[in-house]
Amino acid sequence: MHANITLLPGDGIGPEVVAAGLAVLNQIATRFEHSFDYHEALIGGAAIDATGNPLPDESLARCRSADAILLGAVGGPKWSDPNAPVRPEQGLLKLRRELGLFANLRPVTVHPDLMDLAPVKSDRLVGVNLLVVRELTGGIYFGEKRRDGDVAFDGCSYSVQEVERVVRLAARLAGQRSKRLTQVDKANVLETSRLWRQVTTRVLAEEFPEITLEHQLVDSMAMHLIAKPAAYDVIVTENLFGDILTDEAALLAGSLGLLPSASLGDGGPGLYEPIHGSAPDIAGQDKANPIGTILSVAMMLRWSLKLEAEAAAIETAVASVLSAGLRTADIAAGGAALGTEAMTAAIVAAL
Ligand code: NAD
Repeated sequence: MHANITLLPGDGIGPEVVAAGLAVLNQIATRFEHSFDYHEALIGGAAIDATGNPLPDESLARCRSADAILLGAVGGPKWSDPNAPVRPEQGLLKLRRELGLFANLRPVTVHPDLMDLAPVKSDRLVGVNLLVVRELTGGIYFGEKRRDGDVAFDGCSYSVQEVERVVRLAARLAGQRSKRLTQVDKANVLETSRLWRQVTTRVLAEEFPEITLEHQLVDSMAMHLIAKPAAYDVIVTENLFGDILTDEAALLAGSLGLLPSASLGDGGPGLYEPIHGSAPDIAGQDKANPIGTILSVAMMLRWSLKLEAEAAAIETAVASVLSAGLRTADIAAGGAALGTEAMTAAIVAAL
């Protein structure tokens, strides 16, 4: 197949991990006889330095016309002055909004040889295979914000349609997996949560009768994720709860550097990125773990390009290098470590 892929390297370790993703895409193109065209564009601090704008119009146009987008990370100390007129994160928020990317998918699996790295007892991690679907464009992060003297206010609202579309996506994904969906809210206190519960129950009953639906309150879910993470499969929740629970779930894998994500809308290009940030402390040192980005490429092939065999080949290659004992510094527990380029080369060779 032919596909147009926009690359947004961004800041810090972003360019290093996007280069790793590109090497894997090239290997997939060769092995499976696809042709991928790449267009690199500016975002974040790099875009502010070059143009004064964290998401220049040209970058947005490049993203709109792509089949899929691969992002590294944005931000860093150079642009972190809270009084600065523009900030790198604004570029990413604008991109998500402009492309209507309302669902953030974060799978979490734990490689058997890395279980000792997680701050959770290894026996709890056997069989963990989570997919958290976080609503990304609504809720309290996008509500009205104001200050009245000593009082601050953040509004939270969700419409039926906003809940329906993300719940449908999560239910479709659950249908391809264990046919179980856990919806997380705070329905004992919040009106928006009661709407979430009502809409989810209706959508599942009307459109996905084969899927078993469970509701969980977010406070108890925070405990269950640590106490019995293997008991869950697909989890769907609102923006704020999803932000917190996805970081908690990420701990289970052993390093931020291992985990991928996808942000999807209704049609249009998906945005794929590792869950970590720009890691300024290790930027430019060939120390970054490229696996989160490489697994994001696998998600891109699966969801945007519908290349399931290719996606699975990448996941198998990553698992095989980890099983062979290859490690970057973040997962080496003080032992011998490969750099970003050497780890990428090992995964490409395994492919
Ligand atoms: P971070 O994820 O960049 O780093 C946290 C810690 O994890 C650091 O010690 C870092 O070295 C390590 N780490 C992260 N990714 C790694 C990898 N691939 N391999 C090995 N180690 C890795 O989070 P932070 O330090 O809180 O944020 C740094 C900057 O990144 C900030 O400007 C923040 O705003 C930005 N950020 C961007 C995104 C994004 O672009 N989506 C997400 C989170 C943070």
